[in-house]
Amino acid sequence: MKIHILGAHNCESQDSKFVTLLIDDVLAIDAGGLTASLSFSAQQKLMAILLTHQHYDHVKDIPVIGMNLFLRDSTIDIYSTQAVYDMLTTHLLNDKLYPNFLKQPEEKPTFRFNLIKPDKPEQIKDYGILAVAVNHSAPTVGYQITVADGKAVFHTGDTGPGLSKCWEQVSPQLLIIEVTAPNEYEQWAVQSGHLTPGLLKRELISFRKLKGYLPPVITVHMNPKLEKEIENEVTAVAGDLGSPINLAYEGMQLDL
Ligand SMILES: [Zn+2]
Ligand SMILES: [Zn+2]
Repeated sequence: MKIHILGAHNCESQDSKFVTLLIDDVLAIDAGGLTASLSFSAQQKLMAILLTHQHYDHVKDIPVIGMNLFLRDSTIDIYSTQAVYDMLTTHLLNDKLYPNFLKQPEEKPTFRFNLIKPDKPEQIKDYGILAVAVNHSAPTVGYQITVADGKAVFHTGDTGPGLSKCWEQVSPQLLIIEVTAPNEYEQWAVQSGHLTPGLLKRELISFRKLKGYLPPVITVHMNPKLEKEIENEVTAVAGDLGSPINLAYEGMQLDL
């Protein structure tokens, strides 16, 4: 499995994009940093987009890729929860802000929406997909993607602390988890459903206790303004746990 980090941050600029992961060039997780990172032909090669939750930084490019594919007579599958479907159709794809590509063109709509439920395994071609609920300020699922050889990656999406139930459902060889702000923002993080390096450490300790191992960890959703402090604190956590934790960056390629 080839994992390409298209976006690794919670703010957008010329050198930071919203969190978006690309797997084997065919599956995308979230769509905040999708279109500006891919050529039109790469966009047409996408088989499916899995959305973790409704927040704008994770769905921003859904209308954009809709128009791109619509104008090229292509279609794509979107997978997510009922909550995300409701938000997309009410606020983004409502024929007011932008066309509803779930209904256009009439004979073969650009988007096919596939409803997923937490803890219910799905198959997308050769990929096993498992959505697992996490703790965020809007209903959110993380996704475990498993390939034929049994290797799996788990991306939490945006999440706050309290992941032990989630850890019971997944057994990844690579964990891509959010860390939005440094430790001094802990109270804010707990309230808004995000992680700091200190909160991450507790979650990883609970993972290791439950599963008996710790996979390599990649962090995403960093606030670019606070990234240096986040990096210093994450490096200390990796040292304490004796296990690699690295910050993702735009263009990072991982092989699993
Ligand atoms: Zn969010
Ligand atoms: Zn976010």
